[in-house]
Amino acid sequence: MPQPYDRVFNFSAGPGTLPVEVLEQCREEMLNCQGSGMSVMEMSHRSSEFEAIIGAAESDLRDLLAIPSTYKVLFLQGGASLQFSMVPMNLLPEGGFAQYVVTGAWGKKAVESGQIEGDARVIFDGKTSNYKSVPDLGSLAVEPAAAYVHVTTNETIQGVEFASDPSVAPPLVCDMSSDILSRPVTVSNYGLIYAGAQKNMGPAGLTVVIVREDLLERTPKSMPPMLDYRLQAKNGSMYNTPPCWSVYVSGLVYKHVKKLGGVAAMAQKSAEKSGVLYDAVDGSGGFYNGHAEKSARSRMNVTFTLQDDSLTGDFLKGAEEAKLSGLHGHRSVGGFRASIYNAFPLEGCKVLAGYMADFAKRHG
Ligand code: PMP
Repeated sequence: MPQPYDRVFNFSAGPGTLPVEVLEQCREEMLNCQGSGMSVMEMSHRSSEFEAIIGAAESDLRDLLAIPSTYKVLFLQGGASLQFSMVPMNLLPEGGFAQYVVTGAWGKKAVESGQIEGDARVIFDGKTSNYKSVPDLGSLAVEPAAAYVHVTTNETIQGVEFASDPSVAPPLVCDMSSDILSRPVTVSNYGLIYAGAQKNMGPAGLTVVIVREDLLERTPKSMPPMLDYRLQAKNGSMYNTPPCWSVYVSGLVYKHVKKLGGVAAMAQKSAEKSGVLYDAVDGSGGFYNGHAEKSARSRMNVTFTLQDDSLTGDFLKGAEEAKLSGLHGHRSVGGFRASIYNAFPLEGCKVLAGYMADFAKRHG
């Protein structure tokens, strides 16, 4: 079936597909945003109109994730990558140590940045098994004295995901960039959650940080202001000009997800969509192989390879011709990665599964 506006099925790992309805609303409001007589990109961030936009975005996000009132929500810039440094700069006191669970490439980057700032220790590294699994945190040497334990709930490159909220005694810091809003989470399990917007929330440029208030007390006195959680919280994320456009579009996405039934509905949809693709892999009799162990399979990034790697180029060429875009895997994993964030339609997964079966028939 032709897609609206002749759009392709966009399997990009991020920035990724946004809901068509949201993009249409952006278009509608491009020149006159919500009766203000101007675009959101031209609007003072100190205006009552923008205050209303950022206020609604925060309250809708709080509703979606049932964020307790003891947590601050910050709308920051610098991408999730800046959080790799801001987390230890704010939460890792001198003389203290933090523990990192490394289940893929992003967790590795997080700990490398942590080690620049202080004593950041790796307590699990899935590298030896080529990042195919996630550990049971209960089986790791988590130390109660750790300043925090860092996890990445979904590793975007390898396509491995924790199936449910991890839980540990020290404050849990979580990079949720590629699975936030894809299922209900118990926010109180976490000390801090961070996520770049450009997968499940909106355009790049915005990073959301959800942080338990008492942890803000840890921020050292002398910090570069822009990197200081406490200062950002005190200023309502408006210490400087926030990424107004990204906040606005993300706010529209939050409303859209609420309309669709919230994160529980997203979880159901994600299970169905990823199920279609994993069934296509598992039903291929070994023509395709999934990268992740079954228990750690990501619902957001489905990674798989061909038994015969020499066919990879042909697969991708045919896929592009069939309007299945952005399927090439990361060079460290090879093969293919189908990123199917919240806004990606089920129909696209069915079309890809059909293409996979047809390709296998032609080359098997
Ligand atoms: N963490 C994860 C899990 C990611 O997928 C990404 C980006 N793909 C990042 C961190 C880095 O995000 P950013 O580009 O916003 O810095």
